[in-house]
Amino acid sequence: MRRQAAAAAAAWPVLAGRAAQGHAVTLGVLGGGQLGRMFVHAAQTLGYAVVVLDPDPASPAGQVAQHQIQADYLDADALRELGARAQAITTEFENVPARALADLARLRPVAPSADAVAIAQDRIAEKAHFARCAAQSGVAPAPYAVIERAADLQATAALLPGILKTARLGYDGKGQASVDSAAELAAAWHNLGGVPCVLERRLPLAQECSVIVARGRDGAVVHFPPQRNLHRAGILAVTEVFAGNLPDGAASQALRAAESIACQLDYVGVLCVEFFVLHDGALVVNEMAPRPHNSGHYTVDACDCSQFDLQVRALAGLPLTQPRQHSAAVMLNLLGDLWLRPDGNGDGSAEPPWDKVLALPGAHLHLYGKAHPRRGRKMGHLTMTGASASQARAGALRAAQILGIEPF
Ligand code: ADP
Ligand code: MG
Repeated sequence: MRRQAAAAAAAWPVLAGRAAQGHAVTLGVLGGGQLGRMFVHAAQTLGYAVVVLDPDPASPAGQVAQHQIQADYLDADALRELGARAQAITTEFENVPARALADLARLRPVAPSADAVAIAQDRIAEKAHFARCAAQSGVAPAPYAVIERAADLQATAALLPGILKTARLGYDGKGQASVDSAAELAAAWHNLGGVPCVLERRLPLAQECSVIVARGRDGAVVHFPPQRNLHRAGILAVTEVFAGNLPDGAASQALRAAESIACQLDYVGVLCVEFFVLHDGALVVNEMAPRPHNSGHYTVDACDCSQFDLQVRALAGLPLTQPRQHSAAVMLNLLGDLWLRPDGNGDGSAEPPWDKVLALPGAHLHLYGKAHPRRGRKMGHLTMTGASASQARAGALRAAQILGIEPF
């Protein structure tokens, strides 16, 4: 194993921000959303240039990168151009076709690997991986069944009431249906197009949390503290990170489980694993994202090394250091709804009162450069930092009140 890692490292040299001739080394990103934008910021801080591939000419990451290739993720010419321009390539968008990563890996170092991304893109493969890791970590997924054909709808009574989720392309609660009976399950599966799905038992959630780890090509793993997350309508609304945000046992178990999930994938890069904490204190692993994650945005303002810094380091083969959180933090997602208030309609031109929010000590406002607000669209986020949990929470509650976000 160690010899394998050494061979991989030899084939994949450490990339310094500036090459010997004084030209910036270029990193490539598949996907141009807000995660890509924050990756670009972190990469540029270390002296790298960044090229982004995204079909949207106004993509948030494309706006700040040195170059954007405007094309579909599977466009063969565009992938070749990305491989020619970038010395190493990553992805910021979970549903980038794993095949694009596999093609690029023939040209350049790619992290995370196409294999790891393919597992995270398919809930059936993902849950099978979690079930394998459970033997070591003790943290299993919710009881589930795979539904690939009508006959699979039989013998699922023990999982009801449940949540039916498409195996592929679901995010922010999309591609899911809550079902109480066998009849509802059958109708929901047909409504979802009869595509491969998983049916999970609906669990009594006390809390939700996530853990972000980063793993280098040498196998070194570092992590951020577990984040407590509040979802509304299937979309992350609030992330709170400070000592005592989760029961001690659940926090340390989640950390160990996330590390084991990353190591058993031989993962390279930043990985986020989401968990449920049940009312009896038991921990259940839900899903993973093979990239930096919305619940880790606070790391930019509250930690001495952000999730994006670690993604750049992992991709460039630079050392990963254990991040230290220096401030308690509460992050609020800023959805398009804020621009559409108060009647829920409007043309989206009513800009929220940022001056009032920015008058609060510890306010860090991030807007992603998206021109058109829509309901549920992630337009930005606000991280409130403080010297203590109560300070960060008080600031965040005040900001929520100013913006018309429901208290938490
Ligand atoms: P997505 O890819 O949309 O984030 P998730 O599987 O994370 O899909 O589900 C979205 C949210 O739905 C979760 O954060 C949680 O609040 C709720 N949820 C999902 N699965 C279950 C379950 N088995 N039991 C109870 N709630 C669930
Ligand atoms: Mg989720």
